[in-house]
Amino acid sequence: CGVFGVFNHFNASLLTYRGLNALQHRGQEGCGIVSSDGKTLKAFKGEGLVKNVFKKKDIDVLDGLHAIGHVRYSTFGGGGIHNVQPFLFHSQNGQLGLCHNGNLVNATKIRGYLEQQGSIFQTTADSEIIAHLIKRHRGEMMNRIKESLLYVEGSFAFMFLLEDELYVALDKQGLRPLSIATLGDGYVVSSETCAFDAVGATFLRDVLPGEVIHISKDGLNSSFYSEDRKHQMCMMEYVYFARPDSQIEGINVYQARKNSGKVLAKEAPVEADIVIGVPDSGMSAAVGYAEASKIPLELGLIKNKASDRTFIEPTQALRENAVSLKLSAVRSVIKDKRVVLVDDSIVRGTTIKQLIQLLKHAGAKEVHVRITSPEIKYPCFYGVDFSTYDELISAKYKPSEMKDVIGAHSIAFISIQGLIDAVGRKEGAYCTACYNKKYPTYLYETIIDANKQ
Ligand code: 5GP
Ligand code: SF4
Ligand code: MG
Repeated sequence: CGVFGVFNHFNASLLTYRGLNALQHRGQEGCGIVSSDGKTLKAFKGEGLVKNVFKKKDIDVLDGLHAIGHVRYSTFGGGGIHNVQPFLFHSQNGQLGLCHNGNLVNATKIRGYLEQQGSIFQTTADSEIIAHLIKRHRGEMMNRIKESLLYVEGSFAFMFLLEDELYVALDKQGLRPLSIATLGDGYVVSSETCAFDAVGATFLRDVLPGEVIHISKDGLNSSFYSEDRKHQMCMMEYVYFARPDSQIEGINVYQARKNSGKVLAKEAPVEADIVIGVPDSGMSAAVGYAEASKIPLELGLIKNKASDRTFIEPTQALRENAVSLKLSAVRSVIKDKRVVLVDDSIVRGTTIKQLIQLLKHAGAKEVHVRITSPEIKYPCFYGVDFSTYDELISAKYKPSEMKDVIGAHSIAFISIQGLIDAVGRKEGAYCTACYNKKYPTYLYETIIDANKQ
């Protein structure tokens, strides 16, 4: 998912709309905005793409100087309009707009506890429990939020909008990206910095692991909800999820991907005539592979403009259909060539298998697959969708077997250390659990699936 918020700007909801558009790659199932005019919070949301959900009149209704928005990519909790965020809660003491990027691993447990205590939930989303926890705590809002966050484990970038204040919070592992920018006299918060460029905001800083920031007319006020902080940014943000023009913790995503292509060319060289990247997310790495291997880069696969991200289609049948609609091969480029096919990741194997067929059909002599993510062998419980063990092709086959299953002449994945070196962040570590099972949190109810091997 992606979150975006504006504090203290006359065009808050329009800017949020634009910010959500720039974050559209992070979730395409639904989106919404909650705005505040200082007294009343209003919500508008729907299923589908940002550009289709919002009409101009919907944005005009969302008046006020503050707004938060969300693009949804359903992992746990399922789809449907009732799970589209932001959520808006009303109580006698005020209103609360809430949005969340990430996944709480102990949600079922806490929800059970809250239901026993009398809570009744509107949604099946894990995110809703935090509002109930905040409601149960007393005292000053900053403390209520901090105490509530101590109950939840997993990944989260939260935004809480009150009438005239905005709180943002990041989990104590810093698993998801979240940054702050300035715009005029106001502030903008976003999952990715590419959305700052979309609204003309100036990057200020990243939110730190375990940090809760209070944004008000008096400026920013920072605090930490936990002493037990690690720093483990999701590696897949660099590999696949984020947009190439975003900076994640000071590292440009395009550069990280290009470097990963270079490292892979050193780790897994092959004799070939051309390098081809899989649009869009494999392109940056292909540039690096070609540069380091000195094999020419060609545009051998063309994207059909009208298609959307395949992975995000929720069922396998829809996904397979989507791949063939999405890409076509340029026959004159590929015919009789030994091709290095570079992509960012293999999850279920759907994409790569079809692309190899496509290339062979276009006359490729050999297809050598090079992947700039290590083998994804374990499910992610932190909000990136490969949630069941059985779906992961690398959990079933070693590369030497997978090569035949997908019909490639050779296949190689970047090493975990190679990828860490390629991204090259100076401070902090990474979550690499989907490659090596080193989950940075306790897994609670999800542990059964993780241990299944
Ligand atoms: P597969 O077809 O093997 O299931 O998925 C791999 C393809 O989906 C790659 O081309 C990659 O760009 C994309 N992909 C990989 N990981 C993710 C992910 O976590 N989320 C989304 N939305 N797409 C992914
Ligand atoms: Fe990211 Fe993988 Fe960790 Fe999930 S398990 S947070 S996808 S690195
Ligand atoms: Mg891709």
